[in-house]
Amino acid sequence: MNAFELLATDGAARAGVLSTGHGAVPTPAFMPVGTKATVKSVDPDELRALGASIVLGNTYHLHFRPGEDVIAELGGLHEFMGWEGPILTDSGGFQVFSLRDTLLGVDEEGVTFRSVYDGEAARFTPELAASIQAALGSDVAMCLDVVAPPTVPRRELEEAVRLTTLWAGRQREAPRAEGQLVFGIGQGGTDEALRRRSLEELLELDFDGYAVGGLAVGESREAMFDLTAMSTNLLPGHVPRYFMGIGDPEGILEAIDRGIDMFDCVLPTRLGRTGSALTWEGRLNLKNARHARDPRPLDEACRCPACSRFSRAYLRHLVNQNELLGLRLLSLHNLHFVLELTAGARAAIERQEFGTYKAAALERLSEVAWFT
Ligand SMILES: [Zn+2]
Repeated sequence: MNAFELLATDGAARAGVLSTGHGAVPTPAFMPVGTKATVKSVDPDELRALGASIVLGNTYHLHFRPGEDVIAELGGLHEFMGWEGPILTDSGGFQVFSLRDTLLGVDEEGVTFRSVYDGEAARFTPELAASIQAALGSDVAMCLDVVAPPTVPRRELEEAVRLTTLWAGRQREAPRAEGQLVFGIGQGGTDEALRRRSLEELLELDFDGYAVGGLAVGESREAMFDLTAMSTNLLPGHVPRYFMGIGDPEGILEAIDRGIDMFDCVLPTRLGRTGSALTWEGRLNLKNARHARDPRPLDEACRCPACSRFSRAYLRHLVNQNELLGLRLLSLHNLHFVLELTAGARAAIERQEFGTYKAAALERLSEVAWFT
């Protein structure tokens, strides 16, 4: 039985539902990132109230602190972090390979690196990535992939794709938690032929879903979206497609428009912790003096905990004084903004009006600089 059900399409954009052992995920879905078993500063009840249906955890960080054995002993990741909804765990591949100065070597069996926690040499293999995620008990486990930096020679990219497929095949056969879905991750950088090869090889292994990995790492936005469209075109309709690492409003709309069902990004909470708010007026930096006496909420139309009670002036004061409440309220608002944008896209796809929805949203956002 397929875990994913496609309910409506509008062009390449799709609305569906992913069924997991801990509930359903309506798609398109934005997945808040809870790297260390917490979406920074946000309580699980608040996440639910904001409309989040699934959260991310991270294999790399949870393996080193507190350790998957501790989490398993305490009932698994859902129980441990007080979130009974669906959880997707990333494999740790991105962390291992993006922290280049801690990388010690890659071979057929796995990758050796220095842990960011204590500098000790450590090793990840596809079998270990499977066993950590099985112990965590996540609903969706990701394959350990080889993420090459965007500028490496083609020979290295090709090797990354070869190992990614080899490792995916081994992880596919490794024991998993009961009911756990496993997604393969396509690599290939910005090389179209390699990216195609990567996904075709993974498709032969027959995963529960497929991710577009190794993008949003510095290539042009145009190349990123073109490769995304190419990737989703290769995938059959009945499997979910996950774009790893996109969370700015324009990027979300463009990814959905190219047939992406799931995406994640630390942007909403990271911006919140640095004192910035995502709004239809653009990215507001609350540290700016122009907010000092502004009685208005961040966004008049927003129903989040920050906008329903507090003024920009108050939020600015909290941010400037490094008060925890300010950073928390901004994180809540930013998550709400992105989750609402995504829910609106889903509703528009169901009405066959996604094109209009996207155009209207992009026009509202067009005068602001998101990427500064
Ligand atoms: Zn708000």
